[in-house]
Amino acid sequence: TKDSAKDFLRRNAFVLFTITAVLLGIILAFALRPYKMTYRQIKYFSFPGELLMRMLQMLVLPLIVSSLVTGMASLDGKASGKMGLRAVVYYMMTTIIAVFIGILMVIIIHPGKGSKDKLHREGKIEQVQTTDAFMDLVRNMFPPNLVEACFKQYKTQYSTRVFTRTILHSSNVTAGTTANSQASMPENVTGTLENVTRTLRSLQEVLSFEETIPIPGSANGVNALGLVVFSVCFGLVIGSMKQKGRALQEFFNCLNEAIMRLVAIIIWYAPVGILFLIAGKILEMDDLAVMGGQLGMYTLTVIVGLLIHSLCVLPLLYFIVTHKNPWVFIAGLLQALITALGTSSSSATLPITFRCLEENNGVDRRITRFVLPVGATINMDGTALYEALAAIFIAQVNNYELDFGQIITISITATAASIGAAGIPQAGLVTMMIVLTSVGLPTEDITLIIAVDWFLDRLRTTTNVLGDSLGAGIVEHLSRHELDAQDSELGNSVIEEN
Ligand code: ASP
Repeated sequence: TKDSAKDFLRRNAFVLFTITAVLLGIILAFALRPYKMTYRQIKYFSFPGELLMRMLQMLVLPLIVSSLVTGMASLDGKASGKMGLRAVVYYMMTTIIAVFIGILMVIIIHPGKGSKDKLHREGKIEQVQTTDAFMDLVRNMFPPNLVEACFKQYKTQYSTRVFTRTILHSSNVTAGTTANSQASMPENVTGTLENVTRTLRSLQEVLSFEETIPIPGSANGVNALGLVVFSVCFGLVIGSMKQKGRALQEFFNCLNEAIMRLVAIIIWYAPVGILFLIAGKILEMDDLAVMGGQLGMYTLTVIVGLLIHSLCVLPLLYFIVTHKNPWVFIAGLLQALITALGTSSSSATLPITFRCLEENNGVDRRITRFVLPVGATINMDGTALYEALAAIFIAQVNNYELDFGQIITISITATAASIGAAGIPQAGLVTMMIVLTSVGLPTEDITLIIAVDWFLDRLRTTTNVLGDSLGAGIVEHLSRHELDAQDSELGNSVIEEN
């Protein structure tokens, strides 16, 4: 008991450190904001945060591959089939509920007032084709070159290319129009416009280096989807080889174990990194004036939707299925949730999510090894909710009446877009193109919501991680018979133990 008390303290110390770090980061950033640091100074300042991001990303690739391969290899075909089916049903169900909540919220609150100025509606912009975008999704499932898949998504990813062009075009036009018409505008309007223009300009700067600096959505664009598909198949095959596959199985098992030990070390650095990640972002953000009016209402609508999904729907679902207290489970996840908030990347958070679930919540490794990496890649409730909501918001701003069929189309494409989005910062913004195009909404209007996306991205990433984690708890509960049966079988347990 002395050991377990110590253990308990240590685990809570982590969470305490992390929460303190977040608060400190916020206080520090607001104290420094009046000094108007330059972009370069902010980059220096948030360097420790950047390092955390890099350390986590460094582990993601071997973690996804090793956990999926061992996970699949250690279950017999029937058990893994059932577990996989349960996980997929859970992913689909929660994503559809999330989309539904998003649509409901945006219709009830109605943040878009149809007062859109037509400033940046000049010129013809290429629209992304829904079919092409879907084909990109499927293409990414089968990477022709596994090594290449470890560092990029399908090269000529269509939607990403169109996104770049759209943003470039819109930022040019907006910047131009602002410069021309400033004289005739009241001062507060020009002020806000200048802010927006500045955001667009800097974005444009980044985007015009498309060749060297990856654009959002492909930054650190490991083709996780392709690697997941490969690893699952590879693991299943190794499992079916029985004795012959033993060496490989042990190799991946060992790799997985080693990576998790690295996670245990990095986790000590996480609070420091999170402090600087959050502080750096607050220093970088535009004045909150940009948030006024419709954009403010839109932000609020997204927040309300995400809160309903994370704090009501998911915990309730967990309770209904497992009859266990969801809040105890969620308390064990705090570290992962805060990391998601700090990094805005569910795949960078993955190592911490693994640790929280296995160490704090005692979820069976055979479950986490499958459910977590797949979930981080394809199950994004927050992103799905956000994409449907944002698309309808853009329709409202344009005074564009959507009929029932179009709303259904938005639900389907938002689900697909959330599956296609990589678990990296602001990936959801890029896959939004698919949703907008599917119902003929102007894709360049993404620029309307860019100013607040960094913030909403953090919140939806947290929802994404929560959804994956509760999913692991639910799938474990439903699979307990198969797990027990396998425990009593000889052989497999040996590998699981070490
Ligand atoms: N940043 C999100 C994630 O990593 C994806 C998104 O942009 O919605 O889960």
